[in-house]
Amino acid sequence: KTNGFAVHGNGTNPLVNRWNGRPYSKRYLEILEKRKTLPVWHQKEEFLQALKANQTLILVGETGSGKTTQIPQFVLEAVELEIPDKRRKFMVACTQPRRVAAMSVSRRVAEEMDVNIGEEVGYSIRFEDCSSSRTVLKYLTDGTLLREAMADPLLERYKVIILDEAHERTLATDVLFGLLKEVLKNRPDLKLVVMSATLEAEKFQGYFYGAPLMKVPGRLHPVEIFYTEEPERDYLEAAIRTIMQIHMCEPPGDVLVFLTGEEEIEDACKKISKQVANAGDVYGPVKVVPLYSTLPPAMQQKIFDPAPPPVMVGGPPGRKIVVSTNVAETSLTIDGIVYVIDPGFSKQKVYNPRIRVESLLVSPISKASAHQRSGRAGRTQPGKCFRLYTEKSFNNDLQPQTYPEILRSNLANTVLTLKKLGIDDLVHFDFMDPPAPETLMRALEVLNYLGALDDDGNLTKLGEIMSEFPLDPQMAKMLVVSPEFNCSNEILSISAMLSNEDPAWCYENFINPRAMKAADNVREQLVRIMVRYNLKLCSTDFNSHDYYINIRKAMLAGYFMQVAHLERTGHYLTVKDKQVVHLHPSNCLNRKPEWVIYNEFVLTSRNFIRTVTDVHGEWILDIAPRYFDLENFPQCEAKRVLEKLCKKREREREESKN
Ligand code: ADP
Ligand code: MG
Repeated sequence: KTNGFAVHGNGTNPLVNRWNGRPYSKRYLEILEKRKTLPVWHQKEEFLQALKANQTLILVGETGSGKTTQIPQFVLEAVELEIPDKRRKFMVACTQPRRVAAMSVSRRVAEEMDVNIGEEVGYSIRFEDCSSSRTVLKYLTDGTLLREAMADPLLERYKVIILDEAHERTLATDVLFGLLKEVLKNRPDLKLVVMSATLEAEKFQGYFYGAPLMKVPGRLHPVEIFYTEEPERDYLEAAIRTIMQIHMCEPPGDVLVFLTGEEEIEDACKKISKQVANAGDVYGPVKVVPLYSTLPPAMQQKIFDPAPPPVMVGGPPGRKIVVSTNVAETSLTIDGIVYVIDPGFSKQKVYNPRIRVESLLVSPISKASAHQRSGRAGRTQPGKCFRLYTEKSFNNDLQPQTYPEILRSNLANTVLTLKKLGIDDLVHFDFMDPPAPETLMRALEVLNYLGALDDDGNLTKLGEIMSEFPLDPQMAKMLVVSPEFNCSNEILSISAMLSNEDPAWCYENFINPRAMKAADNVREQLVRIMVRYNLKLCSTDFNSHDYYINIRKAMLAGYFMQVAHLERTGHYLTVKDKQVVHLHPSNCLNRKPEWVIYNEFVLTSRNFIRTVTDVHGEWILDIAPRYFDLENFPQCEAKRVLEKLCKKREREREESKN
C-alpha cells in the first residue's frame, strides 16, 4: 500500500476497493451486476478508445442509458491508468444543470464505487461543498464550475471535464462551452466530454470543430400517447383526476406527474393522498413522493424507493406516484415508471431587456420536452403517456425546442463573471447562440451604474470584489457597501435569507428550521468572503434611530435600479421603466409608502413586486445620483417629485449659508 491506496496495476486484488483499500461490500457486487446491463456498458471499450484518441468527444444517449452515473467512472479508470502515480493530483468533473441532480447522482455513484460521499466521490453546489482532498470524481453544477474557473482560469485541478445535460442549454453551460474551447487550446492535456440526450447533437459537433460523436442506442419500450379532447382549464385538477383514473383502472406500474414548482407539488401530493384514502382499500396502497430542488437530500432519495407492497397477501399491488418538476424529464431517471402525466407546462425564465425584468413564468413546454417526458414511461416496459392538452395544440402551439436560456436571461451576472475571467470582448466571445446585443448592452449598463465596470467597460476594484460573491450583482453591491452604512451584519443576514427558500415565517407563525439552517450556512460563507476582502463586520446600535434607516439605505445602494413610486392615481410605477406594479400581498408594510425598492418582479396576470421596503426620495438622490441624474430622466411624476426635492434642498442650503 502507498498513501492509503492499494497499489494499482497487474497486482490489483479484485476483491479490494482500490479507492480505500477496503474489501468490497455485498451491495457493491449487487449494484455492479445491475450496472453492467446499462446500455453504455456495451460501448465501454469504444468510448475509452475514442477518449484516448481525442481531446473533445460528444456522447449522445437516451435518458437512462447510464451516461451520468457510468461514464465518469469509465473516465476515472482511463485517467488512472494514464497517471498511475497516486501522489499526483487528478480529478474528473461532471457538471449538472440542477443541484438536485448533482446531489442525487453523486450519492448514487459513491454507492456504486463503495466509498463515502464527500470522500473519493463528492459534489459541489452553490453554498455547499461536499468534497475533500481525497475527491477524484466531483459532480458539480455548471454554475459552480464557472465560479471555480474564476479562481483557476485553466481549471488545472481537472484532467477531464464532462459537461452533462448539454441539451438543456443552461446559461452556465453555454458560457462554459465558450470558455472551455479557449481552455482546451491552452491545455493540451485536458479532455472534454460533452454529454446530451438525443437533441441537437449535430449542433454541438459543429461548434466543437467536428469532434467525434458517439451514440448510445437507447432501449425504450413503446409508449402510447393520449391527448385530451378539449383543452383543460385547470391542469392541476386534471392531473389529479388522471392519477385517480390510472390508479383505479390501469394495471400495476408507477406514475410520474410533471408539475412546475414546490408549492404546487406539495399541494398536489396532499390532494392525491387524500383522494387515494377516500377511494378505499379495494385499490392498492399508494406512496406519493414529491421531487423538487429545495427538497432535503434524504427526501430526494425516496423517489428511488420501490412501490409499497400489498396491504395483505394477495391484495391489490401498491403504486408509487412521483410528483416532480422538470428534473425528472432528463436529469434523473426513475425505473419502474409506466404512466406519465404531462400537463404541458414548466417554470421557465423569461427576460424582457426593454423593461429589465427577469421572471420565472409557468410556460408551455416544447415538443422536444414533451417527447422526453413521454419517454420516461417506457423505461422498463411498454407504457402510457397522458398529455393534458389536445393533439392540435401539440402540433400547432408548442415550439419545436426550448430556447437556450442565454437568450432569455438577464446577463448582468454573466457579464461580470466573463469580465472577471478576463474576457473583455464580449461581442466576439464564441457563444453557441449569441445573446441579443440589447441584452448585452443592458448588462454592461447595469454593471456600470453599480460601479462594477468603468465607462470603458473595464472591471473596477469594486467589481472585482463584487464578482467574488456568488450572488447577483445588486445583492453583491449591497453587501460590499454595507460597512459604509454601518450595518454589514444585518445586510449579511438579509442576503442569506433572500438566497434561500421561504422560511414560512410570518405566514404560518412557524419557522422552518431547515430553511433557517440553510440561511445560516449561506451567511457564514458570505462572512468568509467579507473577511477575506477586509470588509468590516459592523452594526449600528440597535437602540439608535438610525438602525433601520442605515439598513434600508444600504439596500438602496444595491437596488436603486428597482425603485417604484406611488403615483397620485394610487398605483405604483417602476421608475424609468414605467411599469404599473402592485405590492405583493405577502408584503409586511402597514401602509403604502411613496417610494419602495423591491427584490423581485413577479409577472402574472397582474404585475407584482415582491419583498419590498420603503425608502426616501432624498436617499435616492444621495445614494444613486448617477442613475437618478434628473437632466437625463424621462418625464414622469417621479421626476417632478425628485426635482422638487432638489429645489427644496438648494433652498435649505442657501438659507443655512445666510
Ligand atoms: P443517463 O444519464 O443516461 O440518463 P443515469 O446514469 O442517470 O442515465 O441512470 C442510469 C441508471 O441508474 C438508471 O436506471 C437510474 O434509474 C439508475 N439510478 C440513478 N440514480 C439512482 C439512485 N439514486 N438509486 C437507484 N438507481 C439510480
Ligand atoms: Mg443523465
